This record gives sequence, structure tokens and C-alpha cells, in this order.
Amino acid sequence: MSVRPLKIRPAIIGNWKMNGSGKEIKLVSRFADFVNKHKIAADVMICPPATLIDRAGLAVKGSKLRIGAQNCHNEPSGAHTGDISATMLKDAGARAVIVGHSERRTGYDETDKQVRQKAQAVIDQGLQAIICLGETRQQFNKGQTLQVVGRQLRGSLPSSATPQNTLIAYEPVWAIGSGRTPKPDDIIKVHTHLRKTLLKLHPKAGAKFKILYGGSVSAANASTILALENVNGALVGGASLSFKDFTAILRSV
Ligand code: PEP
Repeated sequence: MSVRPLKIRPAIIGNWKMNGSGKEIKLVSRFADFVNKHKIAADVMICPPATLIDRAGLAVKGSKLRIGAQNCHNEPSGAHTGDISATMLKDAGARAVIVGHSERRTGYDETDKQVRQKAQAVIDQGLQAIICLGETRQQFNKGQTLQVVGRQLRGSLPSSATPQNTLIAYEPVWAIGSGRTPKPDDIIKVHTHLRKTLLKLHPKAGAKFKILYGGSVSAANASTILALENVNGALVGGASLSFKDFTAILRSV
């Protein structure tokens, strides 16, 4: 089976996690100005906490920078105290939703099935699902990475997924927030395996899905990581909270 990479427009997505308050809307506006002024050869998005989506959406109006969310419930509405649906996120101005981040899979025991249901709910709203997967340090040490991410991808990807409505983000759990990244060859191996799995699941469209890398992407390592085969962008945590670091990553596409 051919896994020769197609030329795919990359995506750089910032995940602010549980960080940021009203005063950080200024940072969103600065990112929007930067994206408008520079010819960034990538789709750029910031996923702030849910409390800021509305204000961030207004701050980027008319710009190429888009706003996304970090999680959602799989139902459109109902008796789910404290939860937020994809319908509500869309209404607030989100254009995409991260689902299955390892901090949700680990902290809230989210299963592949739940991630798939959430991704489906996102797609049903006409938004993009950003499906995260990745192995733990223990699984990496045992040589189980390909098996784990292959299983997560098959279990988390809804059958309605297309390259337009779904992005995949490979995020080794041990690389997130640690300042450590896999060796370039290891990233290539995983992304090629994910590409092959996508081609098996979607023989026609599998070659076109964006597969992002996430986990300690920084201004220093972005150009190396983004140039790797089958890496179609990055999901950026900590560095997306800094104007200097995130714009340096955008410049390195
Ligand atoms: C993330 O949590 O999605 C992430 C990539 O974090 P960091 O870049 O801080 O490792």
C-alpha cells in the first residue's frame, strides 16, 4: 500500500488548556493581526477555554485565525450539569473541537467509544473534530506505540470522518508538557502507521487527512518536526500562550 505523502496544507493549532482569562483576548487579537499580516502557509487556530470562545470569536472576526474548543459532550443538550455540547460551542463561535486529549482520556477515563461519539457530535454540527491519540511512557518503553495508536485511531474515528471534517493529532502522553519529544524517526514511524491505518479505513480519502504532531512543540524544534514525512502540522500547548513562541512556530511552517 502506498503511503507516499500528498502535499497537504498544514494546520497549527494552539491548545490553551485551562489557562487564560479576559485579559488574554488581547493575545488572541495579536495572533489574528500576525496571521493577517504574514503569509502563513498553514491553517491557524487557537482553542481557548470555553469561557473565552465567544470573546475570542469576536476578536478574530474578519481574520484568518479561527477559534476552536477543547472538549464537548456527545449529546446536543440535556441533563448534563456542567457539560457543554458541540451545538453550544458552535453557537459561541467555535469552528472545531479537540476530542480525546490525553488529559481527558486519563483524567476522566474517556474511552475510544466516547471519543468517537464526541467526534460524531462535532461533525454533526458542521465543525471539525481534532481527535487526539498517543501512547504513555510505559507503552512507549514496552514498544507498544504503533499497536496503541492504531487501536485508538480505529476506535475513535467515526465512520463519517472525512479529511475536511476531521484532523488527527498524535500526542505521545510522555511528551506533553515535558519538554521532551520523540526522535524524528520515531515520529515518522508513528505518522506513517497512522497514514496506513487511515488508508485502510478510507481507501480513497485516507491520504488527505491531516495528521498533526503534538507534545512539547517549541520555537526551537518546530521546523524540524513540521518538515517530517506525514506530519501535517502541530497541536501546540504551552508555547501557544506566548506571542513570541507561537508566532515563531508559525514562521517555521
Ligand atoms: C497539548 O497538551 O496538546 C500539548 C501539545 O501540550 P504541550 O505543547 O505543552 O506539550
